[in-house]
Amino acid sequence: MKYETVIGLEVHVQINTNTKIFCSCSTEFGAPANTHTCPVCLGMPGSLPVLNEKFLKHSIKVALAIDCTVANFIKFDRKHYFYPDLPKDYQISQYDKPLASNGHLDIDTDAGIKRIRILRAHMEEDAGKLIHTPTASLVDYNRTGTPLLEIVTEPDLNSADETYAYLTQLKSILEYLEVSDCDMEKGSLRCDANISIRPIGQKELGTKTELKNMNSFKGIRDALNYEIKRQEKQLDAGNLIIQETRLWDETKQKTFSMRTKEEAHDYRYFPDPDLVPFTVDSLTIENIRKALPEFPKAKKQRLISEYDLSEYDAGVISADKHLGLYFEQAAKQYNNPKNICNWLMGDIMNYLNTNNIPAIKLKDLLPPKKLTAMLEMIDQNIISGKIAKKILPEIITTGKEASVIIKEQNLSQISDTSELESIIKQVITENDKVVEELKSGKDQALMFLVGQVMKKTRGKANPQMVNAIINKQINNS
Ligand code: ADP
Ligand code: MG
Ligand code: ZN
Repeated sequence: MKYETVIGLEVHVQINTNTKIFCSCSTEFGAPANTHTCPVCLGMPGSLPVLNEKFLKHSIKVALAIDCTVANFIKFDRKHYFYPDLPKDYQISQYDKPLASNGHLDIDTDAGIKRIRILRAHMEEDAGKLIHTPTASLVDYNRTGTPLLEIVTEPDLNSADETYAYLTQLKSILEYLEVSDCDMEKGSLRCDANISIRPIGQKELGTKTELKNMNSFKGIRDALNYEIKRQEKQLDAGNLIIQETRLWDETKQKTFSMRTKEEAHDYRYFPDPDLVPFTVDSLTIENIRKALPEFPKAKKQRLISEYDLSEYDAGVISADKHLGLYFEQAAKQYNNPKNICNWLMGDIMNYLNTNNIPAIKLKDLLPPKKLTAMLEMIDQNIISGKIAKKILPEIITTGKEASVIIKEQNLSQISDTSELESIIKQVITENDKVVEELKSGKDQALMFLVGQVMKKTRGKANPQMVNAIINKQINNS
């Protein structure tokens, strides 16, 4: 049978603040266990939570960026469950009155732009961390009370690839807002994926499973693709899908059942009496809206119209805020934006990816001025593009200007006609067979000869001049 996949996501984003959601403990990552705790985040009786204002404001920014309606009325609820990582035995969250609702995010798919509706976004506190050793389970409450914004989609995603696109787009927006570092490995972005399948044409949704424990976007995509196949096999075999939570095992590349619906909790939500509801006036919300930065989509359009970049190039450059900023910095100093773009998307991105360096670091490693100075040297025929590619990593690692490296290693392009003529004469005598082929019209033969000249000059010969001189010498012979 043919099935349609239905996916809905619950994404937990850690919002950057110096202190926790309801107390003044630090949110710093990696501190010795239980050193960032106090009576409030440990849930001591009599201690009183106070909402972090910066967290609220950042959350409103995110809500507006994903086109949600932001509620004026702010209320928190207690969600009860018993687990050692939760000292109060309840988590402060938002239940029936979330901060934001009815938003959407438009993603690029093979079939064009698709709108993914966002059901709600609500504020909550994180739990602690359990560390299991062979003999005991230890708990670290440093994480307890870390501010989270949970963003829940409608079941509008229909494939693992669409899910990947949604997450990439969401992350890009969060990074543009500078409200989260979105580092899945540190747990500052976590995603539960709900997935079901249904026969094509069926209206009602199939029974879903909830996937947890993926620690990269790729892991989420792999887990979903695995789960689609697993569910299809079940239905094809005449079995029912059991509503359950399943964990992704990265090494085995499989999902495993963690708990079924029967074991599901009754959270007994009720309003937190320690946190008095309050209102955020519309003017404050509008002021936050006015101060929002330019978002990836708008930036992409601007890069196309202002710099004449292609749709594709503008998409890549605008997807990362820091890459976009870098590009515009460089374009101010150098008048061939397309050329900057090619270098950024080619050798530079390649270098960053291979060395696992985030784009935000690029401006320090290779100040735009250093890049454009190198590009100018290519334009002025002082160095070839090939040499430029070779010295780029050196400019980055040593911090030296291109001109210095060129001088030190004697890499300037040979544009001296008589010098090139004598090298080419030599190449022609050494390769008479190829020269005959060239005379009979084989273009590849020319490329071979140019290659030989490049070899002799260690890539320093000016390629246009080499081409012209070879043709001249052969025509004259
Ligand atoms: P739960 O109470 O189990 O958390 P919710 O109804 O709150 O379930 O939905 C959680 C997420 O699961 C949402 O993103 C929603 O879009 C998605 N979802 C709900 N039902 C389905 C389904 N049948 N198939 C796929 N996703 C679903
Ligand atoms: Mg859920
Ligand atoms: Zn605290």
